[in-house]
Amino acid sequence: MNYLEIDNNHLWHPYNSLPSKTPIWAVKKTKKSKIYFEDAKVLVDGMSSWWSAIHGYNNKRIYKALKKQAKTMPHIMFGGLTHEPASILAKNLVNLTGLNSVFLCDSGSVSVEVALKTAILYQKAKSKEKFKFLALENAYHGDTLGAMSVCDPKNSMHSLYGDYLSKNIFVKSPNLGFDSDFSEAIEDLKEKLTKYHQDIAAFILEPVVQGAGGMRIYNPKYLNEAKKLCEKYDILMILDEIATGFGHTKKMFAYEHSDIKPDILTIGKGLTGGTLTMAAMITSKNISDVISNSEIGVLMHGPTFMANPLACSVANASIEILLNSSWEKKVSKIENVFQTKLNKVKNSDLVKDVRCIGAIGVIELENDIYAKELQEFCVENGVWLRPFGRLFYSIVAYTISEKKLLKITNTMIEAIKYLESKHAK
Ligand SMILES: *Cc1c(COP(=O)(O)O)cnc(C)c1O
Repeated sequence: MNYLEIDNNHLWHPYNSLPSKTPIWAVKKTKKSKIYFEDAKVLVDGMSSWWSAIHGYNNKRIYKALKKQAKTMPHIMFGGLTHEPASILAKNLVNLTGLNSVFLCDSGSVSVEVALKTAILYQKAKSKEKFKFLALENAYHGDTLGAMSVCDPKNSMHSLYGDYLSKNIFVKSPNLGFDSDFSEAIEDLKEKLTKYHQDIAAFILEPVVQGAGGMRIYNPKYLNEAKKLCEKYDILMILDEIATGFGHTKKMFAYEHSDIKPDILTIGKGLTGGTLTMAAMITSKNISDVISNSEIGVLMHGPTFMANPLACSVANASIEILLNSSWEKKVSKIENVFQTKLNKVKNSDLVKDVRCIGAIGVIELENDIYAKELQEFCVENGVWLRPFGRLFYSIVAYTISEKKLLKITNTMIEAIKYLESKHAK
């Protein structure tokens, strides 16, 4: 069956037109860090399906957990009912974070919506009418309306949606660099807090690495200062670790690079090892207590597929696999390879910056016109990468072999050289 033709006629792809204006490749199967195209091409996976496939594809233990759960109970509503996979997952997440109260939902964006609603309810429960959020420039928190309203206004094209989108308050993001000075960003935060604190329910941010909004690595000490300021005004801190969570930055959660704990945490992507869609919002006990003991009394959200047993079982298997692997060592090794290899193109005229942390390697280009050309070069050379705008980056499974990782980094270097030769001044 020529399903590419059906796809071309009927299916939207992410951030695309219908039919797509850029190439769409048909995938037949996956295995570990390999992607098999229908046309017999085999590619090394340099994307881990947008931060999610942390153990590579088709993990046997995950498959076993999925099969077992599918036999006993694929799904059951969570209203008035509970089950073992959800309870085990809650316990796993509480153990990993030291937080207390877990809301399981279907996708990262939804967990962000729930986090924003929780913050508003918490403030309301304390008799404070606070309906605005503070967010960082270059932020990315998802594509639903509430999540979009805390994304960078330019990157996420707020102007397209006019008044339909809530207006929030944005502060300067900390300078690029894990050890860089961030005083300017703190000054801006102080200023905005002084001015608007009465309206602000929470400050939402991606700790240490801003992902889709720019792949920006910043100083974790910024979080310490920002948290102090938030506490001064009883503003909650929501940390969005949907991308960074589960070891991507060499810590289980990126905020562990700092001294703080979030009031509210969102996780997703790597939670099921890239197998099923699931995310979670986790809060301190204080927050769930304040809401539950107030006149409001309840957290008003409840997706149909909340705490889906298949996804919970898979998430539990994924966490077990991660904890029983030497992931810290593996991620450090990956970081080393990214650092030494990608830095080789740092001085290219086409390259603005190279930055790496953990399993994340980023080449930022001077210009945003090369993404399609770069992607086609990589596919041609057997590597799956998906550059966007000025960002040419890779996020790999922690289980990737050194040989495959080198294939990715070498292809990235070759791709830059190819651009240089083609677009030489
Ligand atoms: C991907 C992402 C989201 C959205 O998650 P979805 O599962 O795509 O809805 C939110 N925040 C961050 C930081 C992300 O990287």
